[in-house]
Amino acid sequence: MTLDFTYQASAARIVFGNGASGDVGKWVEALGCRRALVLSTPHQAGDAEALSKRLGPLSVGTFTEATMHTPVDVTERAVARAAELGADCVVSLGGGSTTGLGKAMAYRTDIQQIVVPTTYAGSEVTPILGQTENGVKTTVRSPKITPEVVIYDPQLTLGLPVGMSVTSGLNAIAHAAEGLYAPDRNPITTMMSIDGIRALKEALPALIDSPRDGAAREKALYGAWLCGTVLGQISMSLHHKICHTLGGSFDTPHAETHSIMLPHTIGFNAAAVPELMTPISGIFGGATPGRALYDFARSIGSPMALKDFGLSEADLDRAADIATRNPYSNPRPIDRTAIRALLQDAWSGTRPP
Ligand code: NAD
Repeated sequence: MTLDFTYQASAARIVFGNGASGDVGKWVEALGCRRALVLSTPHQAGDAEALSKRLGPLSVGTFTEATMHTPVDVTERAVARAAELGADCVVSLGGGSTTGLGKAMAYRTDIQQIVVPTTYAGSEVTPILGQTENGVKTTVRSPKITPEVVIYDPQLTLGLPVGMSVTSGLNAIAHAAEGLYAPDRNPITTMMSIDGIRALKEALPALIDSPRDGAAREKALYGAWLCGTVLGQISMSLHHKICHTLGGSFDTPHAETHSIMLPHTIGFNAAAVPELMTPISGIFGGATPGRALYDFARSIGSPMALKDFGLSEADLDRAADIATRNPYSNPRPIDRTAIRALLQDAWSGTRPP
C-alpha cells in the first residue's frame, strides 16, 4: 500500500462524558465570554430555559426558534436578538437544526459557539452550513462555521426517542461509510470511520430494547462524534448527493432519507471498490455490503422505503436528473439509468443486490 495523504485536524475542543454538560459555564468562561445566548428548537425550549437558568449571570437568555433547513429569516432574527442582548457566544442545545442555527449566526458574525448535541447528526464537528432562502438550499464551508467547543453528554440523549435514535444513528453511519472511499480520505479518517461505524452497530440494537441504557447511549454518541468528524474532514459522494437532492428538492426528512438510501448507495459503490468496503462486511457480515446494511437497518426498525415519506413514483425521474447533474466525486461512474434504478429500489424498499 502506498501512503500519500494530507491530514488537517479540526481546532475544535471536544469534551465527552456523562454529566459534562454541567460544565457549560466553565467553557463559556474558557472562551473569554460572559454573555451566552442559549439556542434550541421550540420542542427543546424547556431544556434551553433550564440551561440558561443554570448558567445564571453567564446567560443573557434564550432563542428557541431553531428549525429544519436553517431558514435565513430565522437566522436573521437570532442575530438581531443576540445583538440586542449583547451576547458574546451561543450555546446550541439540540440536534442538527439547532447546531445549524448557531453555525449560521457564526458565519455572519463570527460569534463563538459551544454545542451540546442531543442527536447523532454530527453537524457540530463540521465546517459545513446548509441554509435555505425562498425554498432554495445552499451549502457553504468556512472555518468560521466550525464550533469552538463541543460538549458530548450521553445523559442528554437518554430521552432521544428510539425511532430518532435509529435514523440519526444510520445518518451518522452514512457519513463514515462514504468516508471509506472518499478521494481525500487518509489513514486517520479511515480509522475514525471504522471505529465510528462499529460503535453504532453495537449500540443501536441495544437501544431498541433499552433506550435508557447508559453504556449503549455513551457508545452511540462516541460513534456519532467519530462519524461526524469524518464528514467534516473529507468529500462526500453519491450517497450525500442523493440525500441532498431528495431533502432539498422534495422535502423528504433528513435522517430518514439517509437511513433509507444507505444500503442502496453503499451497495452501488461497493461493486466498484469492494476492497474499500471490506470494513463494512467485517462489521455487518452479510453477502454484500448493500444487503448487510439493509438487513441491519431493517432489524433495528428503520424506515425502508421512500414512498412512505411523501415522494411519489413520478418524482423519481426528476430526482435522478437532479442527482446526476453536477455530481460529487464518486468511486463508481454516475450513470443516470443506474441511479434511476437505485432510486426505484429505495422508493419501493427493495433489498439491494
Ligand atoms: P433535528 O435537530 O431537526 O431534531 C429533530 C427534532 O428532535 C427537533 O424537534 C429536536 O428538538 C428534537 N430533539 C433533538 N434531540 C432530542 C432529544 N435528545 N430528545 C428529544 N427530542 C430531541 O434533527 P437532526 O437529525 O439532529 O438534524 C437534522 C438537520 O441537521 C438537517 O437540517 C441537516 O441538514 C442538518 N445536518 C447538518 C450537517 C452539517 O454538517 N452541516 C450534518 C448533519 C445534519
